[in-house]
Amino acid sequence: MLKKCLVLLCICAGMLFFSTCKKDRPIGDFRIALTFDDGPDPVYTIRILDILKQKNVKATFFVTGYHARLFPSIIRRMHDEGHLIGNHTFTHLYLPGATTAEMLSEVQRTQNIINRYSGAASSYLFRPPYGYISDEQKHLLKNLGYRVVKWDVDPLDYDLARSTPDAIADRVLLLRGNNKMVLMHSADYSDLQSRENTVLALPRIIDELRNKYNYSFITVDQIP
Ligand SMILES: [Zn+2]
Repeated sequence: MLKKCLVLLCICAGMLFFSTCKKDRPIGDFRIALTFDDGPDPVYTIRILDILKQKNVKATFFVTGYHARLFPSIIRRMHDEGHLIGNHTFTHLYLPGATTAEMLSEVQRTQNIINRYSGAASSYLFRPPYGYISDEQKHLLKNLGYRVVKWDVDPLDYDLARSTPDAIADRVLLLRGNNKMVLMHSADYSDLQSRENTVLALPRIIDELRNKYNYSFITVDQIP
């Protein structure tokens, strides 16, 4: 009798466990925006664009004006392949230490380059370097027509000591919910660090988000 009760208890506990797990998983058509900062560069950004093309994923690139001016053909390729291009200042400016004039000058110079290659399709999206921006700066940019965005998940792909390709992918794949933004890097703003691990993590991130968790990929302008 006791044995029977124990078996029954195990079955009930198992059912409870699986129903709880199921609730945590996204069900249905969830949407996610992959975003890549600090590019373009002629090494990692190109490989990221190749993977996105091969897997038919549109993403959002927040570029620095400095890099965009050096590699305009990559900006054109981003645009031609249906990706969205956002503004990340000219020199990866640390906004808390910047004057209003410095911020506006860097944002405008960068936007001029973006507009040259994406024309009427320009998004006027802005992501502050390091995620730092004051309410006053945000308000100012908003009045100029920019939408200021940060992110929902930071898988630390820039932290080379702690981030193997699988660790980056694992952090992204913990994500739950709809209309979320993933922060990654298609280059290093100072050109000193490798983004090899981001490139290696990307195929698994795309495949598992799509096939295992039923996500579809959108650009940031499609997030309400
Ligand atoms: Zn950045």
